[in-house]
Amino acid sequence: MRYISTRGQAPALSFEEVVLTGMASDGGLYVPETIPWLSHDDLASMAGLSYAEIAFRVMKPYVGGEIDDATFRRIVEEAYATFSHDAVVPLNQLDANHFLLELFHGPTLAFKDVALQLLGRLLDHFLDKRGERAVIMGATSGDTGSAAIEGCRHCDNLDIFILHPYQRVSEVQRRQMTTVLADNVFNVAIEGNFDDAQAIVKASFADQAFLNGARLVAVNSINWARIMAQIVYYVASAVALGAPHRPVSFCVPSANFGNLFAGYMAYRMSLPVTQFIIATNANDILHRTLADNDFSKRELVATLAPSMDIVVSSNFERLLFEAYERDGDAVRALLERFQNEPAALADAPLAKLRERFASYRVDDATLLEVIREARHRTKELLDPHTATGYRAAERVRGDAQTPMITLATAHPAKFAEAVVKAGFSGVPLPAHMEDLLEREERYTVLPADLAAVQQFVAENRR
Ligand SMILES: *Cc1c(COP(=O)(O)O)cnc(C)c1O
Repeated sequence: MRYISTRGQAPALSFEEVVLTGMASDGGLYVPETIPWLSHDDLASMAGLSYAEIAFRVMKPYVGGEIDDATFRRIVEEAYATFSHDAVVPLNQLDANHFLLELFHGPTLAFKDVALQLLGRLLDHFLDKRGERAVIMGATSGDTGSAAIEGCRHCDNLDIFILHPYQRVSEVQRRQMTTVLADNVFNVAIEGNFDDAQAIVKASFADQAFLNGARLVAVNSINWARIMAQIVYYVASAVALGAPHRPVSFCVPSANFGNLFAGYMAYRMSLPVTQFIIATNANDILHRTLADNDFSKRELVATLAPSMDIVVSSNFERLLFEAYERDGDAVRALLERFQNEPAALADAPLAKLRERFASYRVDDATLLEVIREARHRTKELLDPHTATGYRAAERVRGDAQTPMITLATAHPAKFAEAVVKAGFSGVPLPAHMEDLLEREERYTVLPADLAAVQQFVAENRR
């Protein structure tokens, strides 16, 4: 399998290269040159299989023979053995025809584990094969950093440096990162805000001289392997509810759009999906684009669903590439305009998106009301991100006959602030992390200074 850029000007890459590369050299994102097809029989034969086996079958064409089957199967099995539920991503029926897909049974209680447990192992495998080592750098305000650390803690060929804003991350989120005491894990608390941390990481990718030739790898959601891993749970949940014989719909709490784009890929692979609903918080660029054709940046709003606080949805570019019939020049022109001024989609691609996508925005006040209402009606305590999805699904679903699957992207214990604000007394952590608040922590506080951080990385990488 070859991978091509959404902006049409970067060289095509193999799977191995695309896993080790972040953004394409033309500023675009990599997508598979052709989209694999799952036949009716392929889907039908997945009924009753384990999650790891479905994962192996769905992802195999994307790997394209670059990892032998036995090794790839072992990598997949190890990745999903870290989940605390036997079904890995269980479906939970809320009412007559609305289901929650619980994506939060991984090590850090958010859906990002599904992709990062696999990505860490894939990177380690390819580096081992090449006899190379690599450094991962990332900035986080919470979920991504802890999931990346958990995904890499056992990887011999990787050293991971995660920057978080000092004293500006919740205690649970900080501890999920800082209590991982592995030799290859380095937590850096930056005396500044998230943007300061992010700027240091970006500058380090732009000029890597400080690494003396070592490879620097990004594990943010533009890495193709993250999308690939997420396709699996759309297929697995739809099959559990009767695909390919019966279609389903999905509602996804969205920010960078990596999660929902994976669903769209599942649909393009032949999964029968009637409707995709994009749920946003007040940071609503996706909703404004779809509803009003207002594809423009707005100032960041801090909400009670912080993992959805974004200005730009980076992976939306991958959907635009498909909506524009894979015309890289058109995508590049649109994204370059968008960079500097409000933009709008052309009529034909917008109409095409509206055939299958709907969207809905949920503000903080509504979100608290939804957490209370869902608890009352279904007994479930939703995390604030999932709550946006729950409301969006109820409000804009097309038909009541098609099962609606709302993706539960985090465990409520991870976002206790919103749950408490909604009037509940708090949420206990799941058994495997009950003692999180007593575990030993390790992190280094550094000034928001590029040279200081780069020196720390250079001195500590192994
Ligand atoms: C990252 C995250 C999201 C947003 O996912 P995208 O792939 O960026 O759209 C939603 N909810 C939670 C809990 C997250 O951690």
